[in-house]
Amino acid sequence: MFEQLDETLHFTKNWQQQLAEAFNTIEDLCRYLQLSPEDLPASVNAAKNFPIKVPVSFAASIEKNNPYDPLLRQVLPIKDELTVYPDFSDDPVGDLAAAPQTGVLHKYHGRVLFINTGSCAINCRYCFRRNFPYADRQLSKQHEDAGIQYLSADPEVSEVILSGGDPLLLSDDRLTQLIQKLNTIKHLKRIRIHTRLPIVLPARITEKLISTLTESTQQIVIVVHCNHANEINTRVINALALLRNSGINLFNQSVLLKDVNDHANILRDLSEKLFSQGVIPYYLHLLDKATGTGHFEVSETVAVELIRQLQLTLPGYLVPKLVKEQAGALSKKNVS
Ligand SMILES: *Cc1c(COP(=O)(O)O)cnc(C)c1O
Ligand code: SF4
Repeated sequence: MFEQLDETLHFTKNWQQQLAEAFNTIEDLCRYLQLSPEDLPASVNAAKNFPIKVPVSFAASIEKNNPYDPLLRQVLPIKDELTVYPDFSDDPVGDLAAAPQTGVLHKYHGRVLFINTGSCAINCRYCFRRNFPYADRQLSKQHEDAGIQYLSADPEVSEVILSGGDPLLLSDDRLTQLIQKLNTIKHLKRIRIHTRLPIVLPARITEKLISTLTESTQQIVIVVHCNHANEINTRVINALALLRNSGINLFNQSVLLKDVNDHANILRDLSEKLFSQGVIPYYLHLLDKATGTGHFEVSETVAVELIRQLQLTLPGYLVPKLVKEQAGALSKKNVS
């Protein structure tokens, strides 16, 4: 089917249809990119551990016939994932210990994170959740009210973070109902949404979604996830403009990834391009040491040097905070 993928037609479809047409085999993706799997370190076994999933909108930003493309590296299952690294594990950030009840993570003062769904529109090979049993951890509909009660019972909580997986994979109806329930909690000031969809499936940003968000009486903050300037195509630019023009504050978090964005000029281009679309660089995360991701690791020394180089050429507000997550810590740790 993807041999004659009609991109123009594909992008006229709604987001659910676009999601259903995401590439889900190495062969289909390679054919679309004019690559032969033999020229790549691609691994079907790696894809068995964590399936390949790449929306067409994201794949369209990958350079054809370039096995070293930085976007391709984020999504292609490769043999390196099967290498065992001694200090890498299945729950590197201690999420299992931080869940007071199903679908709720409470690690930091004043902020509670909801795991609204276990699924994503894209499977990022470096993801720390790749080995995490999210299917039984999510705040499914029957746990949602318990989650709301948890927030209501703690007046110290001023912000709820909708996360996952990707919370924008919830239907408009479920999101609307959830936001309405959250709006009844007086001490809650903000609803923060951690999502990669504006970047990887920009068709999700519909007028209907915008009205759901703008009807919230609590402020909405959206933190997108983008690692490389090439991810910001015209469809992404339009989606970000819809969000920004409706008055939503936009931030970005990236993961520092070997051979994807571990150069000062790449990070600089990313910050510049994000800001040109009204998105403020927030965090640059050191890799969480999840099993299967060791080949993406960039050392702390190199990371600190990259930030130093950014500081020499960018205004301070375009330099993201370099952080790492530590199991049991009371905040993300600044690295310097
Ligand atoms: C990252 C994270 C947050 C948000 O932390 P901020 O520093 O406020 O961005 C909240 N809860 C959990 C469990 C997190 O992992
Ligand atoms: S979108 Fe985020 S949560 Fe989903 S696979 Fe990618 S990094 Fe992981």
